[in-house]
Amino acid sequence: MSRFLSERFFNLKAYVPGEQPRDFNFIKLNTNESPYPPAPQVIDALNREETANLRLYSDPECLALRETLADYYGMAPENILVGNGSDEILSFIFMAFCDNKTGVAYPDISYGFYSVFANLYGLKKNEVPLKEDFTICSEDYCNAGSTVVIANPNAPTGMCASFEDIEKIVKSNPDNVVVIDEAYIDFGGISSIQLIKKYDNLLVVQTYSKSRSLAGARLGYAIGNAALIADLDKLRCSTNPYNVNRLTLLAGKAAIMGQEYYDSNNGEIVKTREYTCEKLEELGFLLTDSKANFIFVKHTQLSGKELYQGLRERGVLVRYFDKPRISDYVRITIGTHEQMDSLLKAFKEMLNK
Ligand code: PMP
Repeated sequence: MSRFLSERFFNLKAYVPGEQPRDFNFIKLNTNESPYPPAPQVIDALNREETANLRLYSDPECLALRETLADYYGMAPENILVGNGSDEILSFIFMAFCDNKTGVAYPDISYGFYSVFANLYGLKKNEVPLKEDFTICSEDYCNAGSTVVIANPNAPTGMCASFEDIEKIVKSNPDNVVVIDEAYIDFGGISSIQLIKKYDNLLVVQTYSKSRSLAGARLGYAIGNAALIADLDKLRCSTNPYNVNRLTLLAGKAAIMGQEYYDSNNGEIVKTREYTCEKLEELGFLLTDSKANFIFVKHTQLSGKELYQGLRERGVLVRYFDKPRISDYVRITIGTHEQMDSLLKAFKEMLNK
């Protein structure tokens, strides 16, 4: 730390992303990327002409992409904000709708960035314990008196809250914003987007990073009532009005044209998830009921750290969280069928089976 850093950041703990190894020798199952390449339409769209156009700023309104997304979801462009990954969108949301009076509530076991943003912006935070089995108690978020943020499916458990529970939470907080982070919704679960026309306090956040194979392009979006989106846009334009670059804007639009390709890949990932879960249960693993493109598993014979290290030594990278309640677990991204067979082989070796 330099002697110049503002005092308010002395104790800030930055988000620690999953490892991104520089060599490609690992089977990389640690950051929930898709094992499949982007749609052919995306590759075609990133053409020479647009590369030459990089001398020009990108469209600060991201209009073509917002129109495409609006069409796809049956909304208007005014209902959509796009950002440099959904992390950026979440950052704007925490900045816009919470402070030290109107705090923010989210589950104690959830996406690690929520607490980082809460600390970064000095918010009053309420980390609500999930039940023992990692399910959400919807009553805990009803009439919350604060902004509510819920990942559905949740990370790192992969578990879904029911559609009825989500609606109950949104309905019971008419004077507060409820944010549903749907980074993993395309692998299971019911999207809350259909509730947006009914509730003006609901924001749904989604990403291109997982189900559309574009983690490296950095593209996420929020869908919600036009007034909420306008508030977020004010912060976006006060931070970085060219927040989505030209190549990513094109890729994002083309990806929607390739939706059939993605739907088929996502179906494959779900099948591979079910296959992997079955095999892991045979090996004595305990699993949460994941509806995401990752699973969350533990074993009575090995701690989470031992599982992580044993796999790493065998060339497989997964994610381990050294945190209360979940330190026995590892989170494993669903890769190709072949990659999951390598994972299973590594586990068998570690368990002498
Ligand atoms: N929300 C959740 C629940 C996530 O797991 C992630 C991925 N780390 C994100 C949001 C952010 O994804 P991205 O910034 O790549 O869109």
